[in-house]
Amino acid sequence: MKQRIIIVGAGQSGARTAAALRKQGHQDDVILIGDEPELPYERPPLSKDMLSGTSTSGTTIFPHAYYAEHRIDLRMDTRVDSIDPAARQVVLADSSLLTYDHLVLATGVRARSIDIPGAGLEGVLTLRTRRDSTRLAARLTANARIVVLGGGFLGLEIAAAAVRQGCAVTVIESGPVLLGRILGGFLGTRLADLHRAHGVDIRTNARVTAIEGQGSVSAVLLEDGTAIAADTVVVAVGALANDELARNAGIECADGILVDAHTRTSAAGIHAVGDVARQRERWSLTLVRLESWENAELQAQTAARTLLGAPQPEDNAPWFWTDQYDQNIQILGGCEPGDTVVIRGDPATPSWCAFFVRNARLQGALLMNAGRERRIVRQIMNTRHAIDHDALGDASHPLKTFLQ
Ligand SMILES: Cc1cc2nc3c(=O)[nH]c(=O)nc-3n(C[C@H](O)[C@H](O)[C@H](O)COP(=O)(O)OP(=O)(O)OC[C@H]3O[C@@H](n4cnc5c(N)ncnc54)[C@H](O)[C@@H]3O)c2cc1C
Repeated sequence: MKQRIIIVGAGQSGARTAAALRKQGHQDDVILIGDEPELPYERPPLSKDMLSGTSTSGTTIFPHAYYAEHRIDLRMDTRVDSIDPAARQVVLADSSLLTYDHLVLATGVRARSIDIPGAGLEGVLTLRTRRDSTRLAARLTANARIVVLGGGFLGLEIAAAAVRQGCAVTVIESGPVLLGRILGGFLGTRLADLHRAHGVDIRTNARVTAIEGQGSVSAVLLEDGTAIAADTVVVAVGALANDELARNAGIECADGILVDAHTRTSAAGIHAVGDVARQRERWSLTLVRLESWENAELQAQTAARTLLGAPQPEDNAPWFWTDQYDQNIQILGGCEPGDTVVIRGDPATPSWCAFFVRNARLQGALLMNAGRERRIVRQIMNTRHAIDHDALGDASHPLKTFLQ
């Protein structure tokens, strides 16, 4: 019996799901539907190489010919308006219907906007797509005044790229510390120092009340009355899951489509992968929606394996990286208030690690220019062995001994 699989969302996880299905031997129809006008691409370069001028195109996942060669029916510039789980159909924007046996939702997230006066002025931008990146890159000229709203990873990468282009950059963060929800603010404090050393004006505990301008933006107004002159404002205040298709079809959602460890949603025959999927349990975390490159890769593989009945690999501590200036920062797992922080190496040097330990188990790790340690640290985390703090903090004590 033929099994047609439709994937909605032709971004990283959608394209990778289609490829994994073919690689793992699925012979029947694979239809990949995406509303962007271009081939599926990876997003990390959009806030790094593309803004720094070292790349103008980002990374296309597969060349055009790949899709035909692998009999993947790629439909670009095509929006899915609704799904009907009972009839196993998707409805396209032109009202045509497609029937599926299995459906994979890979619709990602969209940039969260801000609801304040002036948010619609020319020069107020967000960054999610290649087109957004091209538009923003064109505005990062020497001495341009760039105000970034939001001191998260995306905002900080934009700030770093803008400074490199000679812009005057201000980052406005409403919380008391940058990245307050990541590693308990441990990383944020250090990143604030790094950015200030490069000339970025970082303002924490600052709330924006309005964006001013006649037609196009000229300033950002803060709650305390301060006006910050701006030629461009980048709103980087997080993202919202594109989970409407699922929600309107009665599939369980909670800012993301709820999935189990096999990417199955609450509706039979429907899976969700990538940024839009909120996994009920992942490693030692619950109800986690990961917006990360690796998660998009892994969940694509998981969905394909589940659909084809293949065995799944072991669960892994989540991993994320960011590049800012010449710093490569990698994060594994997470941390909670009260976790013990163990430093390995000297934070005054370029390369060191911080570990977050709870009940003698390694819960999280921050690797500063120490990506070579990622594999072993992840293995240690996955073993869940009890760990000796003192030995962990002693750089002369080889990490591999914690695996024994
Ligand atoms: C600027 C930027 C920098 C990043 N940097 C890093 C990094 O350094 N490290 C890291 O680990 N991760 C990074 N990420 C995150 C990573 O890129 C994402 O986790 C990844 O792209 C998620 O893939 P996805 O397929 O779930 O979503 P997406 O790649 O967003 O794809 C979803 C696609 O679905 C389409 N779609 C939505 N609704 C519909 C519909 N109804 N019909 C048809 N199509 C639809 C969307 O238009 C989009 O094309 C970054 C993301 C951004 C935006």
